[in-house]
Amino acid sequence: MATYSLFSKFKQSLLDGERNYTELRTMRKLRESKKKGFEGYSRVEEALGLFLDSYKNYGSLFSVEEHLLLSDASNRVLAQDLRSSINIPRFNQSSMDGYAVLAEDTKEASIESPVRLKVIGKTLAGDRETCRIKSGQAISVATGAKIPAGSNAVVMVENTSINDNNTVKIFSKTNYGYNLLLEGTDIKKNQVILTKGIWLTPQDIAIAASVGIRKIPVIRRPKVAIFSTGNELVAPGLELKSNTQLFDSNTHMLFSMVNEYGGEAVDLGICKDDKNAINSKIRLSLLYDMVVISGGSSVGELDFVPEILSDLDKPGLLVHGIAMKPGSPTALGLAYGKPIISVPGFPVSAFFAMYTFGKPLLQLMLGTKGPPENKGLAKMTEYTKVHLSMRTFLRVRLNEKRNSNGTFYYFACPIRSLGGSSLSSLKDSNGFVIVDNKKHLRKGEFVQVNILRNV
Ligand code: AMP
Ligand code: MG
Repeated sequence: MATYSLFSKFKQSLLDGERNYTELRTMRKLRESKKKGFEGYSRVEEALGLFLDSYKNYGSLFSVEEHLLLSDASNRVLAQDLRSSINIPRFNQSSMDGYAVLAEDTKEASIESPVRLKVIGKTLAGDRETCRIKSGQAISVATGAKIPAGSNAVVMVENTSINDNNTVKIFSKTNYGYNLLLEGTDIKKNQVILTKGIWLTPQDIAIAASVGIRKIPVIRRPKVAIFSTGNELVAPGLELKSNTQLFDSNTHMLFSMVNEYGGEAVDLGICKDDKNAINSKIRLSLLYDMVVISGGSSVGELDFVPEILSDLDKPGLLVHGIAMKPGSPTALGLAYGKPIISVPGFPVSAFFAMYTFGKPLLQLMLGTKGPPENKGLAKMTEYTKVHLSMRTFLRVRLNEKRNSNGTFYYFACPIRSLGGSSLSSLKDSNGFVIVDNKKHLRKGEFVQVNILRNV
């Protein structure tokens, strides 16, 4: 309880812009006193709030821009508002293949008694010159072609027929303005076409290109140093020397997650469970914009990371022990302006710790809401126990259903697993449900599901 109120107080002081180091020192002592085990866990929102606020207050803020060619800018974050220097369409044009006419001339047209107009010319896309038409006349136009002066509608070719002596029969009435794309109706000159902070999609690249932009200003990807700690770890590709060794999967999972969330991952490899070695590796990592460390984050004999973080520059260790399952032995810190996430070694725990803290941090650094998220509504297929005093990340297997009145939802079947250790349970789940402080989910209960894979 004492820990919670201190956290809130500290958070408030950060919000107020104060740098109250006495309070920080007290927090550190408090943490030292509980080295033997977690006496209490911080709530996820509280831990995340403190972490992000600390970054805003003490962090090396991140807003470096670079200019990328259109083809390289997808999945990057736009660094400045982009404006159009031209109108789109640039001139009044036809949206159909057909005949440019005066709408009034087609008023009486029908299949039984078509209106006949004299075709006096043809305009194709890209043609610059057009002649003027008068009542009783028409000009053949292609999609995207300039509308001749005098014309105010286009009859689509399907509603016409042409004979040898260049007379076109019009079979249907065409109203004023039909099948025209008028200058500046899609994009106006000087209009902002893309706003700073958006996660650029192929559609955005297209609109930038359509107004003639060749290079796009994007935020540089924060460089994120990643390393794994563990005497038992061996890099994939090397040989396992005993059956107590295992391949390091976390470094590579975290690497991919960082890149997916908009960072630029840097693999600093594996580090032995040696306090000095980890200390040196952390100091090397602090040359980058952010640090993610796998393993050694708990309260066991070889878990040195939180202790090392608490000895680093102010504020150092911010949170250790978070009310989430899997992932409770996670630690968060900030030193020399660089945010540090210490995730547990069990891969599923590492995954959810990175999702919970790494993703929002990178979004804050990049000033974006991130890539589009895939979420949906799901109905639980069975009663499922979750953790009353924790945030539970419940892995589920989803099946798609559409109910009788057309509402779309999934059926979510919980995956029973061995806590945070089973990578198969994560690979086999195509979604997960976040449940805060509940004893259980009822069978038939509707929940929001985060979709990991297409169903
Ligand atoms: P730790 O959090 O360091 O106590 O690690 C807990 C367990 O997670 C270890 O016993 C390993 O089974 C597993 N583990 C630790 N680091 C990794 C890693 N980098 N990749 C895969 N599994 C790991
Ligand atoms: Mg370890």
